[in-house]
This record gives sequence, C-alpha cells and structure tokens, in this order.
Amino acid sequence: MNIEGELQKAKNQYKENKKLIEKLKRWKRKDLDALFVEAHEAVFEEIDCRECGNCCKALGPRVTNRDIDKISKFINMRAGKVRNTYLRVDEDNDYVFNKMPCPFLKDANECSIYDVRPRACEEYPHTDYPNMQKKLHITLKNSLICPGVYRILEKIRPEVMD
Ligand code: SF4
Ligand code: SF4
Repeated sequence: MNIEGELQKAKNQYKENKKLIEKLKRWKRKDLDALFVEAHEAVFEEIDCRECGNCCKALGPRVTNRDIDKISKFINMRAGKVRNTYLRVDEDNDYVFNKMPCPFLKDANECSIYDVRPRACEEYPHTDYPNMQKKLHITLKNSLICPGVYRILEKIRPEVMD
C-alpha cells in the first residue's frame, strides 16, 4: 500500500468528505452503524495494517491503568516503571505514550506488545463500533491519518450522496 499516496488522496478529498459526513448526520443510528460495519469489514479485509502503522506513528492513544497492568506483566516490568519509562500524562490527565512513533512499534511496523496493546489501539479506527453518530467528526479527522478510514468513506459515498 502506498501510504503517502492514500493520505494525499484523503487530503484532496477532505472537503467532499466533510459534505459526506454532514449528510450522514441525518441518518438513523441503526442504518448508519450497519453502513459503517459493512464497509469497515470489506476495507480491512484488503488492508494489512503492518504495511502501514501510521496510527502508531501519528496518534497518541489513551493508555488506561488496566492497559498498564497488562503491559507490565507482558514485558515483566513493574507498572510504576512502565509509567516512568514509556508514558506521560496529557492535558486531559490521561496516560499516553511519551513519544511518537510509539516506543513499542518495531521494525516492519510490528507492535511488540500486540497481544496486550491498549484498548484504544485495538479499537482504532473505531469505524465498526456502535453509535457511529457520535464518531462522525473524529472519523473525518481520522481519514487524514488512516488509509482504511479514507477507503471506508470512498466506499460508502455512492450510497450516501447518490
Ligand atoms: S501499542 Fe502497539 S498498536 Fe498501540 S500505538 Fe504502540 S505499536 Fe501501535
Ligand atoms: S488502523 Fe489505519 S492507520 Fe492504523 S495501521 Fe491500520 S490502516 Fe494504518
């Protein structure tokens, strides 16, 4: 996958995507969720996230205490040391990684803590979860970071804009 190319296309399409998102705001919750789940599944069947890793380079996921405990056991490091070594507290008082790209992102875009990665990483880009109505704004923003989101919007466009 040509990540740069996909992200450039997303940038070029941003205004159109904004209009698409405006239209989607008028959709019923059930229909909207079904539309996204179907497109998400089709798109992520074709995308191998290991060829991309852009979310691990560009975003700082929230890391909960539960996530920290799991990571701590997995890498055999005390939770306090995990906090001191890999995390910082952001302006919302949440733990996030202290640098980007993520310190757990290794060569070939592989997550070295994949089995215990934070829930926020697991759920990203949040396009197959209930109540997409609440996530439309962030989905538009994510189209500039995640090629998968860009492709999802492209996929649903004909059905929405007709
Ligand atoms: S923990 Fe893993 S999935 Fe999450 S940002 Fe870091 S490398 Fe990516
Ligand atoms: S979720 Fe999106 S941004 Fe993250 S690795 Fe997969 S395609 Fe790339």
